[in-house]
Amino acid sequence: MSQPRLVLATHNEHKVGELRAILSNMDALPFSAEEIVGARDFGVPEPKEDGVTFAENALIKARALCKATGLPAIADDSGLAVDVLGGSPGIFSARWAGKHGDDAANLDLLLAQLSDIDEPHRRARFVCAAALVTPDGHEHVEEGTLEGTLLFERRGNGGFGYDPILQPLGETRSCAELTPNEKHAISHRGKAFRALAAHITNVLGA
Ligand code: IMP
Repeated sequence: MSQPRLVLATHNEHKVGELRAILSNMDALPFSAEEIVGARDFGVPEPKEDGVTFAENALIKARALCKATGLPAIADDSGLAVDVLGGSPGIFSARWAGKHGDDAANLDLLLAQLSDIDEPHRRARFVCAAALVTPDGHEHVEEGTLEGTLLFERRGNGGFGYDPILQPLGETRSCAELTPNEKHAISHRGKAFRALAAHITNVLGA
């Protein structure tokens, strides 16, 4: 097996695969996709995410992983920002209804909170901050957004989290009705990682 050159702050192999695919499309990538590994390979404990923005939380995770492994590290943090709620659930997206990762309860609560809100006040966006931290102290963050409108009820069976109630601008389908490739092409995560990938090739390619 080749030596890892870049480590990703996720235990989710699906996310590792996604980033490898994005980076593989960059012409000047200074190493092969196999040299990008997930945090699971290192058994590093996850740090406390006590930042108050997506960017801060992404940096906290990337710094901790870079320090623990001695390798350039990438981390992301994401969520849903609803205009009429002043940007909430925001960094609390995964635990909006109280329990971390309870997607069904989070969706139910948000739909109930917005039940009296009509168009055009249902604007919202997914936001993703992706951070790169290198052992020599270089830090860089890129953000991506996916703008949309919140539906009044769930539509579609794909995706995860708030996908069934966010309809991207210009679309007639919810994110949960898009194919994975359609979503990656327009998603907050896709945009943030593609922007960061361009930076990675500059910083690590030298
Ligand atoms: P994290 O980036 O894994 O911490 O995600 C935080 C939370 O934001 C998730 O649990 C979801 O509730 C929400 N979220 C982030 N990205 C998406 C997305 O692409 N679709 C639906 N929900 C998302």
